Amino acid sequence: MTSSNTDDREVALLKFSCDNIKGFIMIDEKIESLSQEIVAKAKALGADLAGIAKVEDLKQSPSHKISEKIPEFDGVGTKSVEGRKRGIVQWPEGAKCAIVIALAHPPEKPELDWWVTGSSAGNTAGNQLLMAVVKKIADWLERDMGIRSFKLPYHIEHGAVYMKDTAVIAGLGCIGKNNILITPRYGPRLRMRVMLIDIDLPSTGPIDFNPCLNCPMPCRKACPQHAFSRKIYTKEEYGMNELPGRSGVYSRFQCNQQMDIDSANFEVVEIEGQEMIGKRVKYCRECELACPVGTD
Ligand code: SF4
Ligand code: SF4
Repeated sequence: MTSSNTDDREVALLKFSCDNIKGFIMIDEKIESLSQEIVAKAKALGADLAGIAKVEDLKQSPSHKISEKIPEFDGVGTKSVEGRKRGIVQWPEGAKCAIVIALAHPPEKPELDWWVTGSSAGNTAGNQLLMAVVKKIADWLERDMGIRSFKLPYHIEHGAVYMKDTAVIAGLGCIGKNNILITPRYGPRLRMRVMLIDIDLPSTGPIDFNPCLNCPMPCRKACPQHAFSRKIYTKEEYGMNELPGRSGVYSRFQCNQQMDIDSANFEVVEIEGQEMIGKRVKYCRECELACPVGTD
């Protein structure tokens, strides 16, 4: 081979590599702009916060990993489905990413979280608002973007995914020492909903945010059931550092005792358009409302 032939081939190879790199950069830019467009649209359609978490990242998140090792828990917020262990996520085929949306839940609007049984849909006013936003996003994705979405129920046993982990991976905030999602803008005073989509986008988080570092933990002190009084989960037992309550100091059994008390103290309410009498339950939010993050 002559030296001129070698030069020609090197130039061709160099051009091929440059074209490929340009191609990759263009694809990355398109993916990035699609991600931003979805997040911006979710906010325009009513979400206060929104982000995207890749399913592959979610499968590695603490709740998803620990749920396989943790003893089965039967309490408020879990459901019994025959043949399925409680707390184990079943991923719909074709789901590649999760969109998480959140609505602010300020203390002066406690009614957003009052749980009403006997109504036809939604259970809480906040959940009905979230479901309406999710529907608008799903309609837009399908109609304008050709993206298929999977709307999810609330309970894991009915097909949901872990929302707090989704929110962390999507960059909305971090898990606080009260075992709740804490966000820079609203603190823990939020309600969330997740939907899945069938295109592969990178996660929009996590973010560098740790308000608990030097905090005197009023959240833990506020708990009427002392659910944060002792270590329940250890790294030795579960093989991970990211434990419930951040350091394993959280008893969902003690928290559930308060949920049972709250459920028993229900109020009877009339439900519009229905003859049946409904029950309204005001669940404890003490560890949430005591957190100072986002109150200014
Ligand atoms: S009160 Fe403090 S320790 Fe508790 S979640 Fe908020 S920032 Fe973290
Ligand atoms: S919700 Fe209430 S009972 Fe449960 S951990 Fe928080 S403060 Fe304690």
